[in-house]
Amino acid sequence: MISMVRSSRLALSAYELVEEFRCGSMSIEDYMASLLERIESIDGRINAYITVNEHALEEARKMDRLVRAGSDGNSNSGHGGGDQALLGVPLAVKDNISTLGIRTTCASRMLADYVPVYDATVVKRLKGAGAIVIGKTNMDEFGMGSTTEFSAFGATRNPWKEDRVAGGSSGGSGAALAACMASIALGSDTGGSVRCPASFCSVYGLKPTYGLLSRYGLISYASSLDCIGLMARSVHDLALMLRAAGRDEHDHTSIDSTLDLRLECTDLKGLRFALIKEVMESEGMDAPVRDCMMDAVSSVEQLGATVEEVSMPVLRYALASYYTIAMAEASSNLARYDGVRYGHTMQPDGVAWNEFYSTIRSNFGSEVKRRIMLGTYVLSSGYYGRYYMKAQQARALIRDGMMMVLKDHDAVMTPTMPVLPPRIGERVSDPLRLYTIDICTVVANLAGIPALSIPYSMHDGLPIGIQFMAGHLGEPLLLRIAHALESAREGKVRRCML
Ligand code: GLN
Repeated sequence: MISMVRSSRLALSAYELVEEFRCGSMSIEDYMASLLERIESIDGRINAYITVNEHALEEARKMDRLVRAGSDGNSNSGHGGGDQALLGVPLAVKDNISTLGIRTTCASRMLADYVPVYDATVVKRLKGAGAIVIGKTNMDEFGMGSTTEFSAFGATRNPWKEDRVAGGSSGGSGAALAACMASIALGSDTGGSVRCPASFCSVYGLKPTYGLLSRYGLISYASSLDCIGLMARSVHDLALMLRAAGRDEHDHTSIDSTLDLRLECTDLKGLRFALIKEVMESEGMDAPVRDCMMDAVSSVEQLGATVEEVSMPVLRYALASYYTIAMAEASSNLARYDGVRYGHTMQPDGVAWNEFYSTIRSNFGSEVKRRIMLGTYVLSSGYYGRYYMKAQQARALIRDGMMMVLKDHDAVMTPTMPVLPPRIGERVSDPLRLYTIDICTVVANLAGIPALSIPYSMHDGLPIGIQFMAGHLGEPLLLRIAHALESAREGKVRRCML
């Protein structure tokens, strides 16, 4: 296959691509072919994809025909109708989000052969807007991790420096965007899994308000915290992807909303942001991250915002609360993989049931097993009050604390990750040390509020992201902040290696 598209064009944002496809200056098929070629040539090293959609090229060709038939792609083409705002855009989907007819493994041996018979609602809606699934991305098994090293398919490497992790658990989605192997991507975020790889890979990562995007078709990790999240190389693209939001009859926690997502304002005049003292003073923060954060504070001040420091001592319980609740819910959610109704299976003939069951359950990796055991422990009678209940009480305090801060401030500003992307292998052997890097991200999941990681700068070739958290349904505000910073830092941040 000979690539028809100049390599610099592979880095175009989705909204720019749609323009080109509409006016016919580039065909969807050529573009898709070039991306597939790029995956073929570099993904052996990066390992962003678990499965590439073998029908992607054919779907692109079909879409080209529709563009030609409807002249501008607005035809009622039968491709889901609507305005085709994502016409022909290659979409990478994390491998815990169901895709009709495409294997969905959760990066686990347990689901290695699982092919869903339906699309997750978010995938269905994005396809309805014209997106084409290019492949399924690597992740930590069942979303449990922050580095994509806990994958049954091997670690994902950071395209900016290949001896570093890409972040996790949606590491494949982050790496696919940064290495120009997709135009937009879906991840999932239970305690930071969209924002962490976004930060480590220098792209945008949005964890929406709990319930804004339907969870139907997302394979559960910890249901009270799980969100599907959006990843892109431009703020404009995030706004386009947010069209997938809204009530879904298949997910009773989904909410109805009409958000005004126009990106007009490029200043931050009149906005008040809070810095959290306990986060800024934490010992675990790398010096370059702290410096970058201070630089970001002066940038937002120059754009017209005011920044104040607030104290939230209750945040010292955030990690313990998050990990206790997440593991408890995981132990219950993952009980379904028993080889009878769900999960990898085998012929039970002549095997005792306990042997059958433990053979099936041995398909989980070591981190997943650790969490199932700890989660079962914190829920067991005798310990429930001491751990699980306490974690829920702490969660309530953290949520109330955030609400108080967000009464007086429009958003809370933190680094997304307190550290630079670690070297592959550097943190996996010590789970507690690994868990601590989620300190800034778990807060938004505990409180159910939206949070956005914005690529801000690089240190020694390693990306650093800044996080903003807003009140419920504050997505328009988060996009406004990101848009203002995107314009102000034009030329200073790279979001793709090309
Ligand atoms: N790193 C966190 C965990 O391991 C968050 C993962 C996620 O958001 N899926 O639980």
